[in-house]
Amino acid sequence: MPDRLHRPDGKPPRVVVVGGGVAALETVLALRALAGMRVEVELIAPDDELRYPPLEVIEPFGLTPPRVDLTDALDTLGVLHRRERVTAVHLQEQCVTTSQGTIVPYEALVLAIGARALPPPAGALTFGGPNGRRQLQALLDDSVAGLVEQILFAVPLGAAWPLPLYELATLTVQRLRSLGSGSTAVSIVTPERVPLELFGGRASGHVREQLDALGIAFNGGGHVAEILRGEARIAPGGELLPADRVVTMPTLRGPALPGVPHDADGFIPVDRHGAVTGAYGVYAAGDATDQPIKQGGLATQQADAIASAIAARAGAAVTPEPFAGVLRGMLLTAGAPRYLEADRSGRSAPTGSPTPLWWPPTKVAGRYLAPFLAQQLAGSAIASDLNPPEMWRDGSIPCEVTLPVL
Ligand SMILES: Cc1cc2nc3c(=O)[nH]c(=O)nc-3n(C[C@H](O)[C@H](O)[C@H](O)COP(=O)(O)OP(=O)(O)OC[C@H]3O[C@@H](n4cnc5c(N)ncnc54)[C@H](O)[C@@H]3O)c2cc1C
Repeated sequence: MPDRLHRPDGKPPRVVVVGGGVAALETVLALRALAGMRVEVELIAPDDELRYPPLEVIEPFGLTPPRVDLTDALDTLGVLHRRERVTAVHLQEQCVTTSQGTIVPYEALVLAIGARALPPPAGALTFGGPNGRRQLQALLDDSVAGLVEQILFAVPLGAAWPLPLYELATLTVQRLRSLGSGSTAVSIVTPERVPLELFGGRASGHVREQLDALGIAFNGGGHVAEILRGEARIAPGGELLPADRVVTMPTLRGPALPGVPHDADGFIPVDRHGAVTGAYGVYAAGDATDQPIKQGGLATQQADAIASAIAARAGAAVTPEPFAGVLRGMLLTAGAPRYLEADRSGRSAPTGSPTPLWWPPTKVAGRYLAPFLAQQLAGSAIASDLNPPEMWRDGSIPCEVTLPVL
């Protein structure tokens, strides 16, 4: 029997969720689904909008990702949004303090505060950094103007999620071709031995075929050690690859929030139920944790595990389900997206498919988040941005799949 959450004044126990990204919103949605109103939920994050990085890759290509107002979304769930930043956790007192000096007590605390990006290497354009999208747009303009002969998309050593660089390379080639400017060569260098190695052989083979079809050169088993004029030095081995411009993604470090246990890189250690090691009543999900792959879908699975553990502790008839760890990725291309899935425990064969493997087929495959976002955006003016026909649809969505009910 899990120990019950108890609030001294007898009211529903307070669950404080910290963060405004996919891990935080999935936690809130799963809590409402599993524990109903048995818990009082408050979310603390400075953000006005849900943070949803996966769609940032479409912005340089002239598409506007949909925005989700966080306060409105939380309002529909009966959850208070406190627009503040948590500055410290006080484990003994079971409370957090915020940038405004507010003290917020909790019976259970969920930290979904993401990771920090390290400064980019000198000379590289870092996508996912503050100016990445604008710089990539400028790079496309320069390429169209004939100023760039070779773009190298470089997956950094220890990258926690390499897929966006494959998308950027693919979309760049397609974009330049559609503008009648096919003279810029595009290549990828990555520490992986094969493309998107995380997903295993078959999926990797699909991605390789796609790269070959687009003329994108794949260089596996290396990373950029130094950017020189017109070329990049690759380690190990010291090979020089032609590169007028190098596009990369930031290397991540943990948040190292005062009062919270963390490893040497600042990441929060968690068990399979998302409980933070050595911090009673505290859970953590998403990029902030010591889970090695930093990916939105995995973040939502951690959130679901946490919500089931808290719901059980709040007295709901729920069995705590541990973190599943199924990797699901949607690779955007200018044609049909590719759906990739791999069970990291090895129970199911890795696959790759042009038809959706989950529903709704969103970038972040969250059990509660995906249908919630589909519902929030349905019928709105921005829904067409989420589903621009040339980017998303392949006409082959299986009709037997039904939309999950919230
Ligand atoms: C370009 C790009 C493309 C990607 N593509 C995919 C994809 O296709 N599929 C996929 O599954 N994943 C993808 N990812 C990874 C995915 O975006 C992340 O794994 C996911 O966003 C992590 O979610 P999170 O909620 O843990 O953290 P974040 O999204 O980083 O959110 C952290 C939140 O916490 C808030 N916060 C931070 N500190 C505090 C504090 N002290 N107090 C209060 N609030 C705080 C922040 O303001 C933010 O709202 C991509 C990432 C990038 C950069």
